Amino acid sequence: MPELPEVETTRLGISPYVINQQITDVHVRERRFRWPMPDDLETKLKGRTVTQVGRRAKYLLLQCDDGFLMIHLGMSGRLRILDNTDNVAKHDHVDILFGNGKVMRFTDPRRFGAMLWTDTPPEQHALIHHLGPEPLSDAFDKDYLFQQAKGRKVAIKVFIMNGEVVVGVGNIYANEALFLSGISPQRAASSLNIDEMELLTAAIKQVLSQAIKAGGTTLRDFRKSDGKPGYFNQELHVYGRADKPCTRCKTPVSSIRQAQRATYFCPSCQR
Ligand SMILES: [Zn+2]
Repeated sequence: MPELPEVETTRLGISPYVINQQITDVHVRERRFRWPMPDDLETKLKGRTVTQVGRRAKYLLLQCDDGFLMIHLGMSGRLRILDNTDNVAKHDHVDILFGNGKVMRFTDPRRFGAMLWTDTPPEQHALIHHLGPEPLSDAFDKDYLFQQAKGRKVAIKVFIMNGEVVVGVGNIYANEALFLSGISPQRAASSLNIDEMELLTAAIKQVLSQAIKAGGTTLRDFRKSDGKPGYFNQELHVYGRADKPCTRCKTPVSSIRQAQRATYFCPSCQR
């Protein structure tokens, strides 16, 4: 599943080809997505110019003059920039053509993604307005997380993966950030003191920044790459390493399930 770093890498990858470009045509081959694609999307987009490519959580926000094209990559979506509309494969559902001759192609085998148009500011959109802050923003800090966690008995790992608390902390990043901060994923969110919240927020920012930076190295080949999401071959300390020695103390890594998701942690380093 494309996580926040992959979405951010996609944003950086498409930006140079679409910003300040007029949309000349839109080819839609499939409208049945997680949220059905509006019938008038082509009409809305044609003739408009993309002025900015933003992101909120995992939504890409292409500002087009007075409105926004919202794109979500869902479970398996990807965007590529091509030189023409040739070679359409089975899951290539949408092509957006630009004045510079480039084509932005949306491919999504599982169709959990979405392409929507909104005239209202994205921060007021029903899919976005309830979301917590961006993890890499200054608004996400120890004081914010400490306040949010007051009275919350839910496990800290489940807590930081809740998009209403903070967006973009996917399962791998939650596991790794808790390892780096030495905090057990099973502790109640409200049991962490302010110093632990400082360690945890810093670790979350660190793992996500590293992933974006690693993704950035593939940007050079963005147009050639298959666009498949991945974790950019990051070094993982605990994720997927059940029973393997902890990279810090050699204790075997434990694995449990929390809220239907796999949790990995070192029972010795994480308290
Ligand atoms: Zn350890």
